Amino acid sequence: MAELTDGRIYNFNPGPATLPVEVLREVQSEMLNFNGSGMSILEISHRAKQYDEVHNAAKADILTLMNLGDDYDVLFIQGGASLQFAMVAMNFATAANKGNYILSGNFAERAYDEAKILGVGEIAASSKEGGYRHIPTQDEIKLTSDAAYLHICMNNTIYGTEYHYVPQTGEVPLIADMSSDMLSRPLDFGKFSLIYAGVQKNLGPAGVVMVVAKKSFIENSPATLPTMLRYNTFLKKNSLYNTPPAFCIYTVGKVAKWIKDNGGLAAMQERNKKKASVVYDAIDNSDGFYKGHADKDSRSLMNVTFRLPSEELEKKFVAEALEHKLGGVKGHRSVGGMRASIYNAMPFEGCERLAAFMNDFRKKN
Ligand SMILES: *Cc1c(COP(=O)(O)O)cnc(C)c1O
Repeated sequence: MAELTDGRIYNFNPGPATLPVEVLREVQSEMLNFNGSGMSILEISHRAKQYDEVHNAAKADILTLMNLGDDYDVLFIQGGASLQFAMVAMNFATAANKGNYILSGNFAERAYDEAKILGVGEIAASSKEGGYRHIPTQDEIKLTSDAAYLHICMNNTIYGTEYHYVPQTGEVPLIADMSSDMLSRPLDFGKFSLIYAGVQKNLGPAGVVMVVAKKSFIENSPATLPTMLRYNTFLKKNSLYNTPPAFCIYTVGKVAKWIKDNGGLAAMQERNKKKASVVYDAIDNSDGFYKGHADKDSRSLMNVTFRLPSEELEKKFVAEALEHKLGGVKGHRSVGGMRASIYNAMPFEGCERLAAFMNDFRKKN
């Protein structure tokens, strides 16, 4: 798994992002003749039996990995996580029962902005002051009375911070954007009423969002909403009301199976912790040459963000890293500096090589 072959590099892109080589190989091998059909998965009807099996196996594997029972269902929706920002507010919040939001980064803000457009959003906590360096603690969260839900962004892809606890909300439903850390670690997923994740970060190719929700929470959508904006359309029709992005779902299914075959979420977490710690160690043992953006207790296991002493050195770092087959390390423009995205499919050796490069670069500069 770890050896670079076929001219590939270690890909630290934030999303679309690296996928398991084993999965890419399998997709390649089935491309001309999928499962004896004489067609590729790109060419099969979404009503065909061969597709049906792929669709339902992906859903079943995801629920198994998350240790959820049949009171939950998996939906596949297009429009990106960005459409989920709006759908959540449209389906569950009203002017009387507002959606509550924790602002912990750029995407959390965008989710809140959609609710604000609809006049149904409130801020429950924010770490914007100081530049989103920490995850608000339980004590910082102030829910409004009659809150429709609390919305959190579990991993802040741009700032490199991640929740290491699940907020307690009492009777108030908890909703989470897990686009960049979905299936990277075990969590008590039963505490969430609805989770969504654009799969292009940790789980597959761009083009579909995986929604995992408590059936009872989504079975009634407001009658005034158009069909494609209602969660219960996807629930009732097994996400087959219209043509689904079949290739994306097929690939997500293969990635879910890859996670299962590699020990499930507990094994992913162990690996991800090991991977993140070698990169964070390179920051912490650099005598201040590298400065991490996130506070230590809020550090993400998925996106490691750091700056160098000057922008000139940062440019040089990006260029020389690529010469060492380490790609995609440039940070987001709103934080600057570097960002190494080390999702499930990044092997430990990629992180080791990055850390070795960081140490070497520091000594030379
Ligand atoms: C990338 C990302 C999004 C946006 O996803 P799109 O699919 O591009 O709409 C939202 N939330 C988080 C946490 C992300 O990382």
